[in-house]
Amino acid sequence: MKAIAIDIGGSHGVCAVVDDRRILAAERVAVADTTSFAKLLPDLSAAVTAALGNCGLRAADCAGVAVSFPGIVDPFSARIFSTPKGKYDDSNTVDLNAWSRECLGLPLRIENDARMALLGEQYCGGLAGCGDAVMITLGTGVGGAVSMGGRLLRGKHFQAGMAGHIPVLFHGRACICGSRGCVESEASTWALPEICRAWPGFEESRLAAEKGLDFAALFRCSGGGDPVAMAIRDRCLTVWASGIVGLVHSFDPEAVVIGGAVMKSADQILPFIEEYVHRHAWTPWGKVRISATALGPDAGLLGAVPLLGEPC
Ligand SMILES: [Zn+2]
Repeated sequence: MKAIAIDIGGSHGVCAVVDDRRILAAERVAVADTTSFAKLLPDLSAAVTAALGNCGLRAADCAGVAVSFPGIVDPFSARIFSTPKGKYDDSNTVDLNAWSRECLGLPLRIENDARMALLGEQYCGGLAGCGDAVMITLGTGVGGAVSMGGRLLRGKHFQAGMAGHIPVLFHGRACICGSRGCVESEASTWALPEICRAWPGFEESRLAAEKGLDFAALFRCSGGGDPVAMAIRDRCLTVWASGIVGLVHSFDPEAVVIGGAVMKSADQILPFIEEYVHRHAWTPWGKVRISATALGPDAGLLGAVPLLGEPC
């Protein structure tokens, strides 16, 4: 099956043409105004047309459009219910079905980006043949998705498996979801600058000289032996690992896959999480398999065919 796959991120999108397990062509789209999804649609149309042209195909050669989106969505009606504040704030007013029909003449489905990544990993990545799995994505926020018995777990309101909003500290930092001490508010890219600046000794640490306080900077400074950076790194790793223990106890997966941009530092993340989860999770049957994403940023695009093939 050929399909059009669109992956919407916070700062850019990717429009691709996929043929089952292969990406035939992909076009990157910069997001000029992160508050408006409607303003992005003409650029997405142009990028889809360019991607189709690059592989000598027409829209009619494709079975449909699959959109990976960073928010709470209904995959079947293509409605977007909620996004983090300041990101695509108008998206609940966008009629994606109408856009796809008018521009491409194709049916459309949308799914949360972490769930799309999980679908992709199961279809042709590190989770092939694994029906009971959990995905956690570490990036600007923290995403999550769950598959049980080979089916995505969505819940009544499409919010099941939101790994980033599992509370790990009930008196912790305020989160964008309205709760406190979530995995995301304690260890994500948006929360990290505030966490660093509030840390005792920050002003004297190597972190204070960094231009941007992201995880690349944190791992660079901690790798260089800076004690403040090492302490913050260990705290973030413990937050993620603790959240994963919660996911293991909630969903009893065979495997946990960790993705997202922060996993560029997988060598500093995976060994800690593996050791922590194997020590703290109650799994008398053995050890849950923990790995980094096999498909990286392509996972969400390669979830297109299984999403479109899923019965309503
Ligand atoms: Zn939260």
